[in-house]
Amino acid sequence: MVQAGMPRRSFVASANRKDCDFPLENLPYGIFSIDGGAPRCGVAIGDMIVDLAACEARGLVDAKGTFSAPQLNDFIALGRDTWEKVRTRLTELLGEGGDETVPLVAMEKARLHLPVRVTEFTDFYASKNHAFNVGVLFRGPENALPPQWTHMPIGYNGRASSVVVSGTDIRRPMGQVKGENGPEWTACRRLDLELELGAIVGADSEMGERVSVADAESMIFGYVLLNDWSARDIQAWEYQPLGPFQAKALGTTISPWIVTQAALEPFRCEGAARDVPLLPYLQEERPGFYDMTIGWKMNGQKMGETNYNVMYYSSAQQLAHHTVSGCPMRVGDLLGSGTISGPSSAETGALLEMTEGGKKPLTVNGARRTFIEDGDEVSLYAYAEGEGYRIGFGPCAGKILPAKA
Ligand code: CA
Repeated sequence: MVQAGMPRRSFVASANRKDCDFPLENLPYGIFSIDGGAPRCGVAIGDMIVDLAACEARGLVDAKGTFSAPQLNDFIALGRDTWEKVRTRLTELLGEGGDETVPLVAMEKARLHLPVRVTEFTDFYASKNHAFNVGVLFRGPENALPPQWTHMPIGYNGRASSVVVSGTDIRRPMGQVKGENGPEWTACRRLDLELELGAIVGADSEMGERVSVADAESMIFGYVLLNDWSARDIQAWEYQPLGPFQAKALGTTISPWIVTQAALEPFRCEGAARDVPLLPYLQEERPGFYDMTIGWKMNGQKMGETNYNVMYYSSAQQLAHHTVSGCPMRVGDLLGSGTISGPSSAETGALLEMTEGGKKPLTVNGARRTFIEDGDEVSLYAYAEGEGYRIGFGPCAGKILPAKA
């Protein structure tokens, strides 16, 4: 447990419960609407949402009018000084003895939307346990971990168009898989999840310019939970030589609340031990990970759980590496961490690993499972545990619909 000081109390009573994801120390940002009204910016506190657009209209906070936008990009683009000022102001308003006239709405009455317009989505592969386990299944133990893996963050450019908010149903994909005599056209038979954290980029970088790891760190606004739904049979047939394509394009679910880097700061910690020194451009001056429990459930049953500190590359290192070619970053870019898996089977973040490629079926609420069946729901969770409070992410869930034949 991190010694992160005594919990601060809010006049919103539900925020003061020890197991509440959204205490005064968290203040994650999202987009909500009420009764079909216009989506706008909000902050979660206990079981309520602060209506930031209404707060700004009343002059309680200043974000240059960006809080009435239907996504957080414009607010995020105002920069780190504004993020800090607004956080300080909200802490003051929502604390005990704050302003009880702050416009609040009940979270249960709100509809939550995608928090940012996702400009680009890049997914990485930063858990060594996961990379090794999957490598064994796809290529055997000798070739499991490619030689470049310990030298640089491996990633691929994904699709922003299929990133959806928690609660959106996901359609099982059709596709080409390897059959007995050539390709076979079928509904995916090996549908999987990937337990990940997504970093939300909070500042632009110039095309042709490289970003250092230290600068990359200051460019990250916050984090969401991210489920990179994966069609393993389609992936196995298509991934060589250019990497995943349709196997990963079917949908990516993110949580509606962006937990800010500021809220996670007390939990900063080292990641996995390095096998070899990194090239100077990837070396960090301070640890880039967080001591944070992260796990997933299937149809309500707890499945895998580990800690984010098992990861080998931080979001800042991934962002820095992303720019070495001169590739510009944009506010609203989403960087997936890669599946977060600890060393043991109970700590894995994908069914592919947990069932060893389908060879070891599991029992989930009394039913046999190797991969995800139609109607199954997968939900992710994460929280950092302080003294008497937790910084949680809220839900990140999705249900699988049958394929369109
Ligand atoms: Ca992934």
